[in-house]
Amino acid sequence: MSELQFWWLLLLPLFFGLGWVAARIDMRQVVRASSRLPRIYLTGLNHLLHDELDQAIEAFLSAARENPATLELQLALAVLFRRRGEFDRAIRIHQELLAREDLPEDRRGEILAELALDYHKAGFFDRAEELYAALQQTARKHWALAQLLEIYQVEKDWRKCIEVVERLVRDDSPAWRVRLIHYHCELAALALTAERWEEAARHIEQARALDRHAVRPILLEGERHFLQGRFEAAFEEWLTLERIAIEHLPLAADRLMAVAERCAWQAKLLHRMHQWLHRHPQLDLVDHYVEFESRHGDVARALRLLQWMLRQQPSLIVLDEYLLLVARQVEPAWVADVEHVREVVHGYVQRLARYRCAQCGFKARRHLWRCPACGQWETFGPARVIEIDAIAGH
Ligand SMILES: [Zn+2]
Repeated sequence: MSELQFWWLLLLPLFFGLGWVAARIDMRQVVRASSRLPRIYLTGLNHLLHDELDQAIEAFLSAARENPATLELQLALAVLFRRRGEFDRAIRIHQELLAREDLPEDRRGEILAELALDYHKAGFFDRAEELYAALQQTARKHWALAQLLEIYQVEKDWRKCIEVVERLVRDDSPAWRVRLIHYHCELAALALTAERWEEAARHIEQARALDRHAVRPILLEGERHFLQGRFEAAFEEWLTLERIAIEHLPLAADRLMAVAERCAWQAKLLHRMHQWLHRHPQLDLVDHYVEFESRHGDVARALRLLQWMLRQQPSLIVLDEYLLLVARQVEPAWVADVEHVREVVHGYVQRLARYRCAQCGFKARRHLWRCPACGQWETFGPARVIEIDAIAGH
C-alpha cells in the first residue's frame, strides 16, 4: 500500500527541478532587468542633465524594451520625444498607454493630460481642446483651463479667453486682472479698426472697471475719441497719463502731435513735451520732441535741452538727435563732417534701439503688449534700450 501511495514522491525532485529551472530563468531576467534599470535610468538622466537628448532617448528606449510594462519609463520617453519635436512618437506612446487594460484608473487623467499637451505642441489645437475639455471633470481642471487659455491666445480668440478666465479665476490676483484687461483691450482695438464704436466703448469700459490706472485702456479711449473726430477729448484722455503713468506717454506721442497740428496747439504741446523731458530725461520721447520742435518751435531751445540731457545721462538715442540739430547750426565747412558722424551714430541707434521684454529679454522694434517669445503680458518697458548703454553702466 505504501508503495502505491507514495510513488509520486519519486517525481518530486523532477517536478521541483523543472520548476526551479523555469523559475531560475525568469528570476535571472528579472534580476538582470531590475539591476540594470537603475543604471540605465541614471545613464539616461545623466544625458538629460547634459542636454544630450538623443543619447537620453537611446538609454530610456533600451530600458523600456526590457521593461515594456514600466509606465514611468514610457512616460519619460514620450516627454523626451515631445521635447525633441517628435510629436507623432509621443502621441503613439500615450495612446498605447491609454489603451492598456492594466492601466490604473488614477493614472488615466495624467496620461490624457500628456496626450493633450502632445496635440497642443504639435499644433493640433482642436484635438487638444477636446482633451482639455474632458479634463474639466478631473483634478486637473485648473491646469487644463490654463492650457486652453494658451490655445485661445495663440488663436487670438479673446472672447473665449475672457470666458475661460472668468470661469477659472476664483481669486482677484493682479496677474489675472492684467490678462482680462488686455483681452478686453484686444477686442476694443479690433472694434475700433472696424469702426464699431459702441462695442469698442463697451470693452474699454470693462477694462477700465478692472483697473482705473491701467495704461492701455486710456490709450484706446483716446484713440476712440480721435477716430471719431473728438480731438479735444482725445488730447485730454491721453494727458491723464501725465499723472498716472508718465513713462507711457511716449506711446501716445504720434497721436498727440497729430491732434496738436489739427487744432493748432503746437505751442501748447511743445511746452508740455519740454517739461516732461526736463522732469523725466529717461522718457523715450526725444525723437518726437526734436521733430516737433524743429517743425513748429525753436531749434535753439531743443539744442539746450538735449545738451542738458546728455550731461544728465549720456545716451546714444539723445546723441543721435543732438547731432541732427548740431548739423544745422555749425558753419558750412563743418556740415559734412557732423552729418557723417551723425550717420554713424544713427546707424547704431537704428540697429540697436529696441524694446525689451523684462521677463525673457526678447527684443522688438515696436512696443508690444504681449511678448511673442514668453507669452507674458506687459513685460515690455515703454522706453527703448540700447545694449551699449548697459555696457557703459547706464
Ligand atoms: Zn518675453
